[in-house]
Amino acid sequence: MTTTNSEISKFFEDVHWLMDVLQNIDVGLVVMDKNYHVVMWNSFMQNHSGKTPEDVLQRSIFSVFPELSEGWFKHKAQSVFVLQNATFTTWEQRPYLFRFPHYRPITGTAEHMYQNSTIIPLMDSKGHVEQICLIIYDVTDTAINKMAQQHANNQLQNLSRTDHLTGLFNRGYWELRLIQEFKRYDRYDQASTLIMMDIDHFKKVNDKYGHTVGDDVIRQVSRALKEQVRDLDIAGRYGGEEFGVILTGTDAQGASVFAERLRSSVEKMVVVSEGQQVRFTISMGLAQLTDKIVDHRAWIEKADAALYQSKEGGRNRFTIADT
Ligand code: GH3
Ligand code: MG
Ligand code: MG
Repeated sequence: MTTTNSEISKFFEDVHWLMDVLQNIDVGLVVMDKNYHVVMWNSFMQNHSGKTPEDVLQRSIFSVFPELSEGWFKHKAQSVFVLQNATFTTWEQRPYLFRFPHYRPITGTAEHMYQNSTIIPLMDSKGHVEQICLIIYDVTDTAINKMAQQHANNQLQNLSRTDHLTGLFNRGYWELRLIQEFKRYDRYDQASTLIMMDIDHFKKVNDKYGHTVGDDVIRQVSRALKEQVRDLDIAGRYGGEEFGVILTGTDAQGASVFAERLRSSVEKMVVVSEGQQVRFTISMGLAQLTDKIVDHRAWIEKADAALYQSKEGGRNRFTIADT
């Protein structure tokens, strides 16, 4: 089979428009030989790096871009030369190969472009791979959206765990932890005691001093609670002025030492708010977990019943439930 002159000129016409496409396509294209010398550099690369083809052609890519990790890149490229398979790198593995600035119109902040990249083998007519093509995709928008989403998720997760007024765990999350602790106990048979606690005559505090002062009292009690629990204990705001504390690895005896310390520190406390000095007390119910308690709800009921007894008995005290 022979090739005619007109076929040859058609081929070059085709290649000509193909080169236009490659030059103007919105991805970066860099063709390199086995010595990593650049043999093609398209306008995407020129526009973002500020380096013209004259600056880079026939030069080693590593001498032009010192930020490109030579060891890592050669390792990747070698497998393309040898195995003749493409290889892909995402921005999550490596935020960028070339440090190109990126001006985001939304935030107005200048940051680098996030890049995905592919290296493909370029086979010559004899079936040898003497050159590779590095393709660079600008994925800044995707990356920034995804990172913003992750950041928001983390914040949401924190928010949905925490009670706004006190910074303690909120009821939903605290109950989840109570369920976990109940299950853990089932497996390891380790002591665990629940304390339910309620501020005494709190309606009177609100009535006499107003809600803002009432809120300050709730905050102060929460602070005292946070100061006295250990890292492994789980303290939450169960309701308006009612709190739950799970003392892990602690039996009723140990928990009563904690309860007495908390009771007496609250009794001595003076909350100063809006020019008023407020004194108050708390009552508590303690329930140690035993085999007789069938689920976490029954555990709360036991501690609640003991709390009720403390109220009936005159308040400013704690009661240990019979479990
Ligand atoms: P007892 O000693 O029997 O507990 O009497 P008490 O007055 O404290 O009675 P109870 O525990 O039923 O009262 C709860 C009151 O707490 C009712 C509600 O108005 C008030 N409260 C609930 N949540 C808040 C809050 O976030 N801030 C303020 N300031 N008050 C609250
Ligand atoms: Mg109360
Ligand atoms: Mg109450």
